[in-house]
Amino acid sequence: MRETLLAGGRNCRPLIAAGGLSEAFVDPALAALEARGAKVRFGARLRAIAFGETKAEALDFGDETIELKPGEGLVLAVPAWVASGLVPGISVPTEFRAIVNAHFRCSPPPDFSPITGVLGANTEWIFRFPDRLAVTISAADRLLEVPREELAEKIWREVAEIAGIAAPLPAWQIIKERRATFAATPEQNAKRPGAATRWHNLALAGDWTATGLPATIEGAIRSGNRAADVVLRGVGQDLRLDVPVEHVVRRLVGLDRPVLGKLPHLSRAVVGHARVPDLSVAHEIGEGAAGLLGRRLGVGPVHLIKIDVVGP
Ligand SMILES: Cc1cc2nc3c(=O)[nH]c(=O)nc-3n(C[C@H](O)[C@H](O)[C@H](O)COP(=O)(O)OP(=O)(O)OC[C@H]3O[C@@H](n4cnc5c(N)ncnc54)[C@H](O)[C@@H]3O)c2cc1C
Repeated sequence: MRETLLAGGRNCRPLIAAGGLSEAFVDPALAALEARGAKVRFGARLRAIAFGETKAEALDFGDETIELKPGEGLVLAVPAWVASGLVPGISVPTEFRAIVNAHFRCSPPPDFSPITGVLGANTEWIFRFPDRLAVTISAADRLLEVPREELAEKIWREVAEIAGIAAPLPAWQIIKERRATFAATPEQNAKRPGAATRWHNLALAGDWTATGLPATIEGAIRSGNRAADVVLRGVGQDLRLDVPVEHVVRRLVGLDRPVLGKLPHLSRAVVGHARVPDLSVAHEIGEGAAGLLGRRLGVGPVHLIKIDVVGP
């Protein structure tokens, strides 16, 4: 409500993925990952995570175990009930609501609206596509036990009347998703965790985390951005604490491969510990004098930056 209706105007504009969700979200995301050298693996179920005192240490995929090296982080973006089985001690929503989708192959009237909200019927939303009409019914638990054929007939009668189509039931598909969204109740909302966990290289993502939004694609995207921020900050600790300097620089320039070629000397870097309290006397005098001079330096204009606070 705060981010849409109360924010007014542009914030209330509904958006529809005209060519489908894959075209709008999935394909561009995969392309962006590939362009940055990431490999995406499908069909691999994470079975367990090995935890150390402060870090997630390894991922068990059954046929393969992947160790998390210093500087590597984990964003766990699985459903709430899967996350609670993988990560001990986290709070997650435990009640869910169903969504029923119905798809009808037809040529919708050209003047039929791309999105139609419906009151007083089973049908809640009708989405127009070039070759079909799609219906979404949220909190649809009451329809889960209704046979699919009966549902298709019932929903099509409503849709045909609203769209002004005088035709019998066309080719159809009904999809029932039992745990489509967490139940949007104050009790369940209070169970949504933030992105950060007690392990500094592990963050939680998913529409069920505390995004401030209901269980939506937008919430899922926001959760992913927050989890990425949390993990980057967390693995930053690794980079500061346990990694040789040449690895740090490699990681910092890791997204820009051509730069690596300019850093051959790093492979032979000798890393020492700065023991600041034990500076040599001559050095101490020099440092001290520099500090004294530094005190009178003026402070120039500063830029204000916006900081997104991420929950615990
Ligand atoms: C029928 C239906 C219609 C919807 N319509 C809309 C809509 O119109 N608009 C809207 O904004 N939202 C809609 N939603 C909600 C939207 O789909 C979700 O909010 C969004 O997909 C949540 O994204 P997510 O990344 O949190 O979780 P998911 O999309 O559920 O992704 C979790 C992933 O984790 C994988 N996984 C599970 N267990 C493991 C494991 N052990 N190891 C590895 N991977 C695992 C799953 O395979 C899945 O790919 C709809 C949802 C449903 C079910």
